Amino acid sequence: MNPHVLFWIPAALRLALIWIGSAVLWYFFGPVVGLLAGLALTTAITVSQLYYLSALDIWLDSPRSDRLPDGWGAWHAVYSHLYRLSHDEEKSKKELTEWLTRFREAMNFLPDGVAILDNVLFLDWCNPVAEKHLGLDLERDRDMRITNLVRNPAFIDYIILGRYDQPLEMKLNDRYLVLQIIPFGNRRHILVTHDRTDTVRTEKIRRDFVANASHELRTPLTVINGFLEVAIAQPDLDRETRLSHLKMMKEQGERMQTLVEGMLTLTNLESNDYPLKREPFNAALLVRQVFEAGQALSAGRHVFALETDGPETLYGSMDEIRTAFTNLVTNAIRYTPDGGKITVTWTATEEGPRFSVKDTGIGIEAKHIPRLTQRFYQVDKSRSRLVNGTGLGLSIVRHILLRHDAKLDIESETGKGSEFSVRFTRRILVP
Ligand code: ADP
Repeated sequence: MNPHVLFWIPAALRLALIWIGSAVLWYFFGPVVGLLAGLALTTAITVSQLYYLSALDIWLDSPRSDRLPDGWGAWHAVYSHLYRLSHDEEKSKKELTEWLTRFREAMNFLPDGVAILDNVLFLDWCNPVAEKHLGLDLERDRDMRITNLVRNPAFIDYIILGRYDQPLEMKLNDRYLVLQIIPFGNRRHILVTHDRTDTVRTEKIRRDFVANASHELRTPLTVINGFLEVAIAQPDLDRETRLSHLKMMKEQGERMQTLVEGMLTLTNLESNDYPLKREPFNAALLVRQVFEAGQALSAGRHVFALETDGPETLYGSMDEIRTAFTNLVTNAIRYTPDGGKITVTWTATEEGPRFSVKDTGIGIEAKHIPRLTQRFYQVDKSRSRLVNGTGLGLSIVRHILLRHDAKLDIESETGKGSEFSVRFTRRILVP
C-alpha cells in the first residue's frame, strides 16, 4: 500500500473519533453539550496543528537536523522525513567540504601553479604556486580580471588571441614560465603555470660551457694546424726549426689534454652517477705530500712553509681532496713571482678542520673574487695562458668542496698576495 495513505489514517481516525464522541454526547446530554465538546476538541486539534506549524516555521529559519522539534501523529512523520532530508544534506555538505579541503591540499602540493578563471576570465581561485608565479594574492585579487592582474604584454596578447591550444613561454618577475589556458565546463578556464627558470639556466650554463670549451680548444688547434701546414708546404725545413715547431705543437697538445681532463673532471663531479665515496684517509700525510709536490713544482723559485697540527683522519674522497688542495697550491705557485713565500696550513678549529694556502703573489682585485670559481673564469687571460691555466681549477675545487660539505674563503689584496682557505665541517671527521 502507498505509505502516504497510511500517513492519513491516524488523522482521519482522530476526526472520526471526535465526531462519534460528539454524537454520543449529543445523544445522552443534548445538542449543546455535543456541539460544545466537538468544537472544543477540533479547536484543540487546530491549536496543536498551529503549534507544530509555527515550530516548523521557526526551524526553517535555521534548518539543522539536531534542532528539529518533536512531533506527534502526522507531524512526527513530517518531522522524521525532514530530519532525514536535513541529515542527508548536512552529510553531503560535510563530505563536499572534506573533499574540497582535500582537493585544495593536493593543489597546494602541486609543483605547478593552477588558477581557475570564470567565463569572463575573472579570478575565482588559485593555488599558492600560481600566486608566487603570477604575483597574485588570492584574497586581494579574487573576482578581478586576470589581464588586470598579470600586466605582461605577451600574456595579454595570448589572452586576446585566444589560441589556448598552444602554451605560452614568457619571462615574468625574473622567472621563465610556461603557461597554458585550458577551457572547461561552462566557458570557465583553468590557467596552469610551470616554472622553467632552472632548466633555462642549466641550458644557458651548458651552452656557455660548450662555447667556452670550443673557444679554448680552438687556439691550440689553430697553432697545431698552422705548424702542420708549414711542415707540408716546406718539407725541407732544417732540423732545428722542425724540432722547435714540434715542441710548440707538443705544448699545445698538452694544453688541449689539460683542458679536456679538466672538463672531464668537472663533468664527473657534477654527474649524479658518480656519488661521493666516503673513505677514511690520512689527511695530515696528504697535506704533506701536496706540499712536497708543490715544492718540486716550484723548483726552488719560492720559499715554502708548512704548519700542520690538524686532524689525521678524514672521511671523504682522498683523490678529490688531493685534487682540490693541489689546485690551490699550484695556483699559489703560478701566481706568485719568484722569491715569494707560500705558506700551507692544516689546522683544527672549533667548526672543523681548515686547510689554507697563503701566498705573497700578485693578488686579485676584489671585484673578481666572487666569480673566480666560475668555469673558465680568468682574471687575466694572457697571464693565465703563460702559466698554462685553463680557468677550470677553482671551479673543480668548488665542486669537490660542495661534495664534502666544505666552503672556500678567498682573501686577497692586489700586489700583496692571497689566501685560499678550505673550511670543513666536523662531519668530515666522522664515518
Ligand atoms: P687557472 O687555470 O686560469 O689558474 P683557476 O680556476 O685555477 O684557473 O683560477 C681562476 C683565476 O683565479 C686565475 O685565472 C687567476 O687569475 C686567479 N687566481 C687563482 N689563484 C690565484 C692566486 N693564488 N693568486 C692570484 N690569482 C689567482
